[in-house]
Amino acid sequence: MAGARGRASLGRCWLGGKGGGWAGGSPACGIISSLCFMPAGLKRWLSSAAPAPRVCVVGSGPAGFYTAQHILKHHGGAQVDIYEKLPVPFGLVRFGVAPDHPEVKNVTNSFTQTARSERCAYYGNVTVGRDVTVPELQQAYHAVVLSYGAEDNRVLGIPGENLPGVLSARAFVGWYNGLPENRHLKPDLSCETALILGHGNVALDIARILLAPLPLLRKTDITAGSLAALACSKVKRVWLVGRRGPLQVAFTIKELREMINLPGTRPVLSPADFTGLENAIKDAPRPRKRLTELMIKTALEKPVEKPVEVQAAAAREWGLKFQRSPQEVLPSADGTRVRAVRMALTRLEGSGDSAKAIPTGDVEDLECGLVLSSIGYRSLPLDPAVPFDAQRGVIPNTSGRVEGVPGLYCSGWVKRGPTGVIITTMNDSFDTAQSVLEDLQVGTLDVSSSREGFGAVESILRSRGVRPVSFSDWEKIDAAEVARGRAAGKPREKIVDPQEMLQLVGH
Ligand code: FAD
Repeated sequence: MAGARGRASLGRCWLGGKGGGWAGGSPACGIISSLCFMPAGLKRWLSSAAPAPRVCVVGSGPAGFYTAQHILKHHGGAQVDIYEKLPVPFGLVRFGVAPDHPEVKNVTNSFTQTARSERCAYYGNVTVGRDVTVPELQQAYHAVVLSYGAEDNRVLGIPGENLPGVLSARAFVGWYNGLPENRHLKPDLSCETALILGHGNVALDIARILLAPLPLLRKTDITAGSLAALACSKVKRVWLVGRRGPLQVAFTIKELREMINLPGTRPVLSPADFTGLENAIKDAPRPRKRLTELMIKTALEKPVEKPVEVQAAAAREWGLKFQRSPQEVLPSADGTRVRAVRMALTRLEGSGDSAKAIPTGDVEDLECGLVLSSIGYRSLPLDPAVPFDAQRGVIPNTSGRVEGVPGLYCSGWVKRGPTGVIITTMNDSFDTAQSVLEDLQVGTLDVSSSREGFGAVESILRSRGVRPVSFSDWEKIDAAEVARGRAAGKPREKIVDPQEMLQLVGH
């Protein structure tokens, strides 16, 4: 039952939004969809002298903000404090979403409104699990919601994976998006061919950034350092390689179309990969059907969008390779870096999403000078006091209620695993918020005694030498970034060094 009301309202938003890609529906969706119900229990609470429920949220990505937004909207007395380990908010909206997709980042406008609410506070520069523990937060708040995302990546687990020239997609994305921990990455872009392992939207984002004409990137908030490196890049060919077939790709049509239409590049799809697929998709769900039709059209027909001579003149190319599973990263002759990836060719057993890739016994070496492994993000355990399912990489929960720990909740990627767009994250964050509201209503969450909230946490942080960054501090950093960007003709120039951010706000 938890979240059913939230989900019903979201259904309307999904239909109303543009849909069909990373970006999903309208960013304003979260606000519009909120329901103006006021359960009797809350009305009773408002007219009673009970202390205000104090809720804290760990993580300021979409999950953290949407959870806070929903609780504040539907509980007139709740106070929500958001803790974030970086000085700056918004998680993967700032550090994941591709710089050339600025419209997706508009969700930060509604997050900013939430953060400016009198009943919401933001404390950046606080790493939960290190600067303050989860049990300490539980002492200070009536409810604690963990929304700390998925900050690690899955590994290939094959020989040669640690050779120079092999990078995780997470690190590469963090580098071009100004994630402080990746600011020194310095990917070597002196080779002509890059291999991206994975057939998801992150893989397509990376291929696009590697091949996009510089004038397109210059107008974005991509960091100055990565723009300079891309300006000297020799990469002119990108292969996206997947273990399974065209019917199993995980990217969406909007991102594929964008790649097909990328100026100065040419798609190279092998017609043999697509023969006979028209029949196979006859009864497929519409999004899969349209996506496959676009791949077939691109592989089999002469492109209509770009004149043939433009295609021929395209200096750069990209393509999809199917049914190849990486077995080993092969070193250059002097052993100093990657030369190729040995692929096990596969056949598919079963069909649709559940098809399995079985090695045929044949192998093929794909030459390349850069390997980007885009096989998924992964959440990590935060605190010994919090149960964690290491196998699935999630906090075990029921509708966001952490199993066996009353008063502890989770939302977003750490709740359901690292898949889904911002709208999906919004959906399940509202579900979790709904669980908190219901537990407040039925009394599972005991608010009869008051909790000190940040007052208690502040003294813990001070004793450990940690100085939080407030939302108005972030707004100063934001203004500085926007001003630097304006000078360079971009929406913002991100500050990539946390020390510089802290200096800016007088820490
Ligand atoms: P996150 O966004 O990762 O937020 C988690 C937050 O918790 C971070 O700010 C982190 O710093 C903080 N945190 C971590 N540990 C701690 C700690 N110990 N203490 C305090 N704070 C902590 N979706 C779209 O709709 N459109 C797109 O174009 C799009 N592009 C994407 C591109 C990439 C490369 C990726 C990886 C994802 C993309 N997504 C996109 C998906 C979208 O980003 C996710 O659905 C969403 O960000 C998940 O939200 P989250 O809050 O669970 O995690």
